[in-house]
Amino acid sequence: MSAHAAAPRPCAVTEAASHGRLHPEPHPGHRNEFQRDRDRIIHCGAFRRLEYKTQVFVNHEGDLYRTRLTHSLEVGQIARTCAQALGLNVDLVEAIALAHDLGHTPFGHAGQDALAARMAGLGGFEHNIQSLRVVDSLETRYAAFDGLNLTFETREGLLKRCPAERAEQLGPVAARFIHGGQPTLEAQLVNLCDGIAYNSHDVDDGLRSGLITVDACRRTELLAPLFAEVADAYPYLDERRTIYEVVRRMINIQVEDVIRTSAASIEAATPGSVEAVRERSQPLIGFSADMARRHQGLKDFLFNNLYRHYRVARMVRKSQAVVQALFDAFLDDPGLMPEQHQAAAQEGEARQGRPGRARAVADYIAGMTDRFAIEEYRRLCRPEELT
Ligand code: MG
Repeated sequence: MSAHAAAPRPCAVTEAASHGRLHPEPHPGHRNEFQRDRDRIIHCGAFRRLEYKTQVFVNHEGDLYRTRLTHSLEVGQIARTCAQALGLNVDLVEAIALAHDLGHTPFGHAGQDALAARMAGLGGFEHNIQSLRVVDSLETRYAAFDGLNLTFETREGLLKRCPAERAEQLGPVAARFIHGGQPTLEAQLVNLCDGIAYNSHDVDDGLRSGLITVDACRRTELLAPLFAEVADAYPYLDERRTIYEVVRRMINIQVEDVIRTSAASIEAATPGSVEAVRERSQPLIGFSADMARRHQGLKDFLFNNLYRHYRVARMVRKSQAVVQALFDAFLDDPGLMPEQHQAAAQEGEARQGRPGRARAVADYIAGMTDRFAIEEYRRLCRPEELT
């Protein structure tokens, strides 16, 4: 154990307190159960596809921008640091972080919104629920079961929002969306670190792309003191290194704040077990009020200046058109999809009618990388490609 690791807390998840796997398996032996979850996630196909899925920028726009894969790794890194300092289960945190975006559509939030709009009235679409679907059933690699057969705690940690109707279908893993309560501290932590990671890398990518400027960033409450600190310490530093120095400080002050604030909340509440955490009405992991305000301020700044920049807006519109066209074509005629997805559509339709057919179409589209979705669109919707 390193010098910075806190002693495990009684409210941290342990193997002994785990609710286990849907299909019982022998203990992995030289790994713990959560390390096995992490390893299964890293070896699955959906994890590899994250490399070619957008965060904000479409994948082929530039090699230096974040993808869902690098985002997931950054969330894992930040969350592991916090978990270690807080005495939580580091392996579980890593497994949740690496799997949290497995269900993301191509083209980031633009793709997710387009698919959710098409699935309205057909069972809906939400990428966190889709991440659970990927690890529970869509990955078909093992002889004895569909999905990755992950532990209850990793699966529970993937859900963030869930309508009551879907929660009922999902069972105990989604119970808190019916009866209230919280997920484990490990899941709460990954959720918060997701926000730290994307705020930080979107500043970095946004500046690199030229869509936002150093001057504009300097005016945000979170970044203003950090730019001043870097300028003080290194008065002649070039802009590129200044940005890196600011971004690393930005991650650091948020991490320090989360650790300090959450440790105090946990100590004040002293939950004696994971169940005591689950029964609470409010999360115990969080920012201080001051940091929450500065974090939100930066989020608003990125929303107004980066995500709504006209060049991003053009990309959003084009990528939504691709998702919509693919969805409409496949729902109209599932025979246009590869055999395995046709079979899923037939099966879904036999069981649940049109929503079942639509679910198979959504699964196929959600699994696509940016590039594959664009190629499918060309093959289906561009008559000049007939020859
Ligand atoms: Mg994420």
